[in-house]
Amino acid sequence: MAAPIFVNKNLLQSDALRQYILETSVYPREHEQLKALRDVTLKHAWGVMSTPPEEGQLLCLLLKLMNAKRTMEISVFTGYSLLCTALALPEDGKITAIDVDRKSFEIGLPFIQKAGVEKKIDFIESEGLPPLDKMLQEGKEDGSFDFVFVDGDKENYSQYHERLMKLVKVGGLIGYDNTLWFGTVADPHGSSLPEGLRIMRDCLVKFSKFLATDPRVEISQICIGDGITLCRRLY
Ligand code: SAH
Ligand code: CA
Repeated sequence: MAAPIFVNKNLLQSDALRQYILETSVYPREHEQLKALRDVTLKHAWGVMSTPPEEGQLLCLLLKLMNAKRTMEISVFTGYSLLCTALALPEDGKITAIDVDRKSFEIGLPFIQKAGVEKKIDFIESEGLPPLDKMLQEGKEDGSFDFVFVDGDKENYSQYHERLMKLVKVGGLIGYDNTLWFGTVADPHGSSLPEGLRIMRDCLVKFSKFLATDPRVEISQICIGDGITLCRRLY
């Protein structure tokens, strides 16, 4: 799995350009607990999955612009994007955070605690789809989320989307992460990828094509990190 393409998540012209952005605009503003969590996550065998700090900074800004109060995160890993979100929400903000892997979440938890934002987080150890189905069955959460960050099982993004079209409020925002998949979405055959990653790439390409035709949302494909597609629910 340690194919170089998987390690290099830089979609910019050069690594030096990314480094410039990080050193000029991101690192000087990064919360100390985010930095500490990033350092620990880098040592994790799958640390490359963590949300890059420049993307975390964008998420914080968007959440504050929207005055978001109630959010959901599907796939937490060690919690970099979760801690960004928790820091951006007001004191009474709430995040439903779902991941199959509690152990990785527990790596990040001490940093979340030190930042004083643990009370905003409700962690659910589960596959992503079942808690959404439960919310829909109970019927109490329809239209209640300001923002949802989807960053888990890429092959299920379209399944998440159908559910989120009910759970996110009209005017609310969904961010689908990794939609440029190391730049391989533009490679017609995705031939440079190992099979598992190629299957996910194909799902992401199909999903992006679908989103472009979905009248329920307006969209923007952002070239930051590994690519994030923002969707605003219109009705
Ligand atoms: N947002 C995270 C990165 C997530 S990485 C951050 O900022 O660090 C992808 C995560 O997806 C992993 O933690 C993995 O456990 C989780 N995952 C994989 N399949 C899943 C599924 N079916 N449901 C929920 N989470 C899943
Ligand atoms: Ca991601």
